[in-house]
Amino acid sequence: MIRLEAATSGETTMRGNVAAPRLLLRRLREVLAEPISAQERLDKIVEQIASNMVAEVCSTYVLRSDDVLELYATVGLNREAVHLTSLKVGEGLVGLIAADARYINLANAQVHPAFAYKPETGEEMFNAFLGVPILRAGRTLGVLVVQNKSHRTYTEEEVEILQTTAMIIAEMIAAGGLEPIGRAGTLDIKRPLRLEGLGFGEGVGLGHVVLHEPRVVVSNLIADDTNRELSRLDAAIEKLRISVDDLLSRSDVAVPGEHRDVLEAYRLFAYDRGWVRKMEEAVNNGLTAEASVEKVQSDTRARMLRQTDPYLRDRLHDFDALANRLLRELMGRPHGPFAGALPKDAVVVARNMGAAELFDYDRDRLRALVLEEGAPTSHVAIVARALGIPVVGQLPNAVSLVESGDPIIVDGETGHVHLRPASDVESAYAEKVKFRARRQAQYRRLRSKPSVTKDGQDVQMQLNAGLLVDLPHLEESGAAGIGLFRTELQFMVASSFPRMAEQERLYRNVLAAAGDRPVTFRSLDIGGDKVLPYVRQSEEEENPAMGWRAIRLGLDRPALLRTQIRALLKAGAGHELRLMFPMITEVSEFERAQALVEREKAFLRRHGYQLPETVKLGVMIEVPSLLFQLDELFSVVHFASVGSNDLMQFTMASDRGNTRLSNRYDSMSKPFLRLLKLIADKAREYHVPITLCGELAGKPLEAMALLAIGYRSISMSPSSIGPVKSMVLDLDVGRLRARLLPRLEPGKGTSDLRPFLKLYAEEQGIPI
Ligand code: PEP
Ligand code: MG
Repeated sequence: MIRLEAATSGETTMRGNVAAPRLLLRRLREVLAEPISAQERLDKIVEQIASNMVAEVCSTYVLRSDDVLELYATVGLNREAVHLTSLKVGEGLVGLIAADARYINLANAQVHPAFAYKPETGEEMFNAFLGVPILRAGRTLGVLVVQNKSHRTYTEEEVEILQTTAMIIAEMIAAGGLEPIGRAGTLDIKRPLRLEGLGFGEGVGLGHVVLHEPRVVVSNLIADDTNRELSRLDAAIEKLRISVDDLLSRSDVAVPGEHRDVLEAYRLFAYDRGWVRKMEEAVNNGLTAEASVEKVQSDTRARMLRQTDPYLRDRLHDFDALANRLLRELMGRPHGPFAGALPKDAVVVARNMGAAELFDYDRDRLRALVLEEGAPTSHVAIVARALGIPVVGQLPNAVSLVESGDPIIVDGETGHVHLRPASDVESAYAEKVKFRARRQAQYRRLRSKPSVTKDGQDVQMQLNAGLLVDLPHLEESGAAGIGLFRTELQFMVASSFPRMAEQERLYRNVLAAAGDRPVTFRSLDIGGDKVLPYVRQSEEEENPAMGWRAIRLGLDRPALLRTQIRALLKAGAGHELRLMFPMITEVSEFERAQALVEREKAFLRRHGYQLPETVKLGVMIEVPSLLFQLDELFSVVHFASVGSNDLMQFTMASDRGNTRLSNRYDSMSKPFLRLLKLIADKAREYHVPITLCGELAGKPLEAMALLAIGYRSISMSPSSIGPVKSMVLDLDVGRLRARLLPRLEPGKGTSDLRPFLKLYAEEQGIPI
């Protein structure tokens, strides 16, 4: 565990007389309240700093979007140099401070190797130099400098004063109003940024940033009463420590694991004397308790952001979370995610998020989602795709780079994110959106075409669904049915456990919307990363994906599963009811579930209810152990569906939600394709209908390979139907199969078959 003291090295302890800084801050408050322009305000601020610190020079440099620091205000240097003098980041002492986000304190600046002489400033007379970065949320926005003629070293107190006033200037810059007068167009804080993450699919979203966990905005920076602020700070720290201790003593975190490690990190930070001392120093210098938390947070962040060690970067997240907790404590804000009014075109930016949290946002106002972490098959990504929301994940530092309300464009296909885009980028994307709409219209025209390959093979294209909002897609996409209805989504959006009647109502609506088309319901798949907000888990699991989830939970809590089965049987009266069970590991689990269905059928019959015309029961093949029980399995089930998301994660022992692993193993490789083929072959041997309903089915290239190895029924998210269908119509499956199968044989050939598949599609003109 690193200590914050180490992380903030380069800072100093404040001792001695504290009246001067408080006086300065009081003056600055008066300046901030004056009805003058931002430029005039900055001019006055540097005058106040110079006079308070008895400095002959005080200057502010502001970082522009072209990585140049422009002199914005000065007393002591030639006034004509304002908006003329500029230094690149890294150039001269000022540039060095900006590059390293660290202060420089020198008795004789002229002899420093980085000193850059700018004749227009008249700087040559000054020897002593103290410059500090102007930081906000760890980002450098400029540099604040004081200089004196004498050869003197500024005291630790003076360093602290200058850092504190720099924070006030940072807020001023962020508040806007300072427009560049020099050559470059914008200030750095308004700089357009093009960021690259991983596209999790689903088109393009344009809108404005909403932080999932909003930063607490501290508006009151300067204290009226320092003693009062000190006791507020102490009380809040005390409360924070108690709350962290409480969390750690709860029985559900008693088990070692990642969750507990994070809390342990919180506790270390909460009790870190260096952290507390720095905040107290900032209060002693005249800041409010909140402002002091923010100042120390920003300083620490600036240093830790420069760390390349992933462990330390993770600790930064922990530290940030704790500092935010403290801020909320001080400002009496409720903890937790965004609770404000959502703009009409919200793009939610989060470090990570559970699938259930996504439902807290009004779908009609949600344009896109950006995650620092996540993986394409994590459930939040799947749910977002089901809702038609573009997602980009694995975008490092996304949360600290954005400001609430920033314009943003999210391209879920390429993984590009444009923050504060220039107008040409915006119009290019508006074009892209139009183009997509045209393409969608083309896909819609394919809707009524039978999905038959060039060589006459029928392909059942089905939908993955889970909510009422999905149902119109059936008609729009021309899908043959619902291949996977994820019943847990209804439970995830609800604020309390849906009763049997509510479940029945939903299932009835689904069957009515589907008409003659088949619907395959999946029994509740909760546990793992699909937690229900209203069910408190009694035990934190170390490996939840392999834990007490899905059918395991259902069989251990039969009342839950039976309620659902009863609701399904009632809703299915007069129809065919298809029901499959997730995460089956042993055939006997299916048989136990089947027995529950039989029992419920008997119950309903006894009570005079009409039953479904037929009940077909199946399993999801998601756990590799089933591969060694296929003969037994296919002898007892009516149908099966391959859950390739989970099957891939368990076969490769590679967590589907882990950012670092998401590109590591390819499903289009020999081992996985062989395994999928084995399932298809066995199913055919036993005449058991087989579908594949994982995310693979919705990607044209992958779907093409699935058809080649023998799948004829695939189920995918609504927006994939168009692209996959246009692949199907142009594919000669027989020909591809003949080329692909030899490549799956043992031999020296490469294990990765993706390049072959890409080339094949290219040569044959198959759209993928
Ligand atoms: C799967 O695992 O492939 C699947 C379809 O189920 P889910 O993604 O809901 O776990
Ligand atoms: Mg699954």
